[in-house]
Amino acid sequence: MKQKYNILIIGGGTGGIMVAAQLKNFDRHLDIAILEPSETHWYQPAWTLVGAGTFDYKKTARPMKDLIPNGVDWIKDKVTLVAPDENLCFTEHSGQINYDYLVVAPGLVYNMDGIKGLKESLGKGVVCSNYTDPNHTWEVLQNFKGGNAVFTQPNTPIKCGGAPQKIAYLAADYFRKHPPLSKTNVIFATPGSVIFGVKDFAATLMKVIKNYGMDFLPFFSPVEIDAQNGHIYYQYLGPKLEEGPVFEKLGLKVMPDGRIQMPFDMLHLAPPQKAPDFIKESGLANETNWMQVDIHTLQHMKYPNVFGLGDVAALPTAKTGAAIRKQAPVVVKNLISIIKKNKTDFAQYEGYSSCPLVTGYGKMVLAEFKYDNVRDSDPLLSKFVDTAEETWSMWLLKKYGLPFLYWNQMMKGKM
Ligand code: FAD
Repeated sequence: MKQKYNILIIGGGTGGIMVAAQLKNFDRHLDIAILEPSETHWYQPAWTLVGAGTFDYKKTARPMKDLIPNGVDWIKDKVTLVAPDENLCFTEHSGQINYDYLVVAPGLVYNMDGIKGLKESLGKGVVCSNYTDPNHTWEVLQNFKGGNAVFTQPNTPIKCGGAPQKIAYLAADYFRKHPPLSKTNVIFATPGSVIFGVKDFAATLMKVIKNYGMDFLPFFSPVEIDAQNGHIYYQYLGPKLEEGPVFEKLGLKVMPDGRIQMPFDMLHLAPPQKAPDFIKESGLANETNWMQVDIHTLQHMKYPNVFGLGDVAALPTAKTGAAIRKQAPVVVKNLISIIKKNKTDFAQYEGYSSCPLVTGYGKMVLAEFKYDNVRDSDPLLSKFVDTAEETWSMWLLKKYGLPFLYWNQMMKGKM
């Protein structure tokens, strides 16, 4: 380890490894280090399938040492603060490290205080999350005896915004094939106003919900979990609350303080999420506390030698590994342009992201889109398959194709 690097990368996750690998492929002499405390790199997109018992959790992990590209120094440590005016990072154990150029990709963190009762209940009994322990989700699904199976998500940006509904569809499919002992309601409750932001995909998903007989509750923002009594409480964000027959069917109650009480017999949720605190403390954040970058060049708005990508970045698109696949080449190209003092040659990121919406065992809708919720389906793929419909071929892509491409192409900087 040295005390100064030409290019320093914070985080050895999807974004950090892809940028490092692509930089090294471009010029193997570049002087690069990755700051990353974890021994393990996770392929998180497969956790949805793990939670439904159709993918082996162990296969989602690889030793970090096998992914750090050759010739890149791995500093096994955590950044505690960046001093961007002085071009240096402070670390937990390795002191200060200077850089000429910085790439910030530490992902996001879970805010377990964002919902009352969450930290006490998550991971125990029937309260589960594919975000934290997908093996536990699978146990909960198999042990479910009937009643309300509640799937929900918080009122913050989250990684893979589709993940909370994917596991709801898989559960509905599982319960159809393995009927629980008593009557079951599969509920998807979300703070959002629609099931999905891009119309073509939303139309298909509403059909999926109808076919499973699920209850879709928009404008429901979870605020408290009372696991002991099997209740989750929601703040209703919609224009006007109609207490229709669904209230009776699901046992919903409006409390004196206006919150809605929903009984659950199993609960799956994504925890509230935020950028790591050091982003704000280092003066790298915008007013929402996510990292402030130009949404097209991914360059920091105040510090031109700093770039950000991945979940940490304040980008108005979905936080996914698929988005990073399009962000990493932009960061790499623009970094190299700056290093070579050719700023006119800046690449632009158009907000591409994609969400493989698994809608059941053997079925998937591939939602690809860019900024402003504009559909951006791959033209080649679209010649052979309508990716806005449920297809078996896209399921095969999710279960076999994408993991293969991730480990063998993306992590090697080849795509
Ligand atoms: P990460 O991959 O999370 O990596 C961040 C790294 O930074 C970690 O290794 C961490 O240890 C390190 N780090 C953190 N803090 C510090 C620090 N202070 N100093 C140094 N290092 C630090 N994406 C898809 O494309 N398709 C999907 O189907 C999909 N499904 C998903 C399902 C689930 C359940 C989940 C949880 C995620 C899913 N995603 C999916 C999202 C995808 O996994 C993430 O968007 C992607 O991994 C983000 O990459 P990243 O590099 O920003 O962060």
